[in-house]
Amino acid sequence: MEIINSITQMREKVKHHQILGQTVGFVPTMGYLHEGHASLLAAAKKEADIVVLSVFVNPLQFGENEDLDNYPRDEKRDQTIAQKNGVDYLFMPAIDRMYPTEMGIHLSINQRVGVLCDRTRPGHFQGVITVLTKLFNIVEPTFTYFGMKDAQQVAVVDLLIQQLNFNIQLRMIPTVREADGLAKSSRNVNLSEAERKQAPLIYQSLKHAETAIINGEADAEKVTAAVATKIKAAGGTIDYIEVLTYPELLPITTINQTVIVAVAIKYQRARLIDNVIVNIVN
Ligand code: AMP
Repeated sequence: MEIINSITQMREKVKHHQILGQTVGFVPTMGYLHEGHASLLAAAKKEADIVVLSVFVNPLQFGENEDLDNYPRDEKRDQTIAQKNGVDYLFMPAIDRMYPTEMGIHLSINQRVGVLCDRTRPGHFQGVITVLTKLFNIVEPTFTYFGMKDAQQVAVVDLLIQQLNFNIQLRMIPTVREADGLAKSSRNVNLSEAERKQAPLIYQSLKHAETAIINGEADAEKVTAAVATKIKAAGGTIDYIEVLTYPELLPITTINQTVIVAVAIKYQRARLIDNVIVNIVN
């Protein structure tokens, strides 16, 4: 595995493999790697000739009062995990290499937003599409791998790739969970012991909703209300509970197509998100 900090060097490496006709699988992350990230790397390893992992905590996607400073970081540990998971190139650019001058170009998005995380994290997805546009242009991957834990992000990346004509195939990877169902997240280390005990109820509430929909519950409001009741025992403060079409993320009252049931819960030092996608076969 090679660790790369320079954009120019990253481009040269990729160019070399492209000339050889090799495919490149790209996994963008913010580091503090866990089994969720490892499953994206495993999918990349299986499919692509070369695996590029980026670790970059992107300041643009954090709001003013968000957890940028608290965001967990451990470069050495990330390097070990990357190596173990068969990464060929670990791209870790410094902030001033990615943003040497203040951005004078701003990408904006007005579809698949205005709901879920975009409600309470205004500007977050602008930050995400900006950094991904830069990373996609640097790495020029054949395939890119994203986790369904961040389902709105997947929907947004899908739109970015389609509408800006990136020649990249998007792969959506299922959420990896702890034994008790809690979605693995770099932010879980910021939960208190008591919060960690309550947090598995988030997924249990979502599974309950999924079962209800599969068994014929078509009233989105009732599904939302049932999740709200169940999830109270998970502690924290409910940021949102929403049922929307997927991947368009449009409102729906009668569930008659594939939907996402998604929640965000704010704890003392961590905000957790989770979701289930329920496929309705008509
Ligand atoms: P992050 O480092 O949190 O920005 O995440 C980088 C990528 O890993 C994103 O595509 C996430 O959706 C994905 N990811 C994070 N947690 C999980 C998980 N528990 N299971 C699967 N993918 C995940």
